[in-house]
Amino acid sequence: MIFTVAIDGPAAAGKGTISRAIAARFGLRHLDTGLLYRAVGRKVLEGAEPVAAARALVPEDLNVPGLRGSEAAAAASQVATIADVRAALVDFQRDFARFDGGAVLDGRDICTVICPDAAVKLYVTASPEVRAERRFLELSQAGADVTRDGVLQDVLARDARDMGRAEAPLVAAADAVVIDTSDMAIDEAVERAADVVAAARKD
Ligand code: C5P
Repeated sequence: MIFTVAIDGPAAAGKGTISRAIAARFGLRHLDTGLLYRAVGRKVLEGAEPVAAARALVPEDLNVPGLRGSEAAAAASQVATIADVRAALVDFQRDFARFDGGAVLDGRDICTVICPDAAVKLYVTASPEVRAERRFLELSQAGADVTRDGVLQDVLARDARDMGRAEAPLVAAADAVVIDTSDMAIDEAVERAADVVAAARKD
């Protein structure tokens, strides 16, 4: 059965945690599409040409250590502005979305471009200050040498690039259910998302 849950939103809004929880609860496969752009970004940092790197991407490239760090994130949001990079990654994502048994994909353009016909569309967001604070705590607990203001500036720069680009900018799809996690515990946000998915499963 094809059942796709599409989840978009800016960095550190909680969409990764929500996606993993929804996948586990409903027995769906999960793809964090940011990893595709991070893997291309990493290759570019190592000297590759972005479009060639995107075309040559293989699933094993998503398991490389360090992909979740801030260096790969910044490189990802730069390669993500290139139309031919995005085009090279479309088929992989759409094939994944059609996985028999159902799939959850999270990213920036899943509801708007990759899976506009998804059974469930969610836009998970939070204020930049709340997202920066979450990211700061995560990074400093992991031992990274970061400041609150530096992390906030990184969040704002990535938002501006992701929302302001010409190609598939980050925007809430008109028919997406918006979940603003600014004043929510993550468990509450997961339950909110699970209610939407459960309702769609009944249809
Ligand atoms: O979600 P994550 O922080 O891993 O994404 C890294 C970057 O990859 C984002 O800032 C964005 O520029 C890009 N991206 C994208 N489209 C997606 C997923 C990620 O442009 N579907």
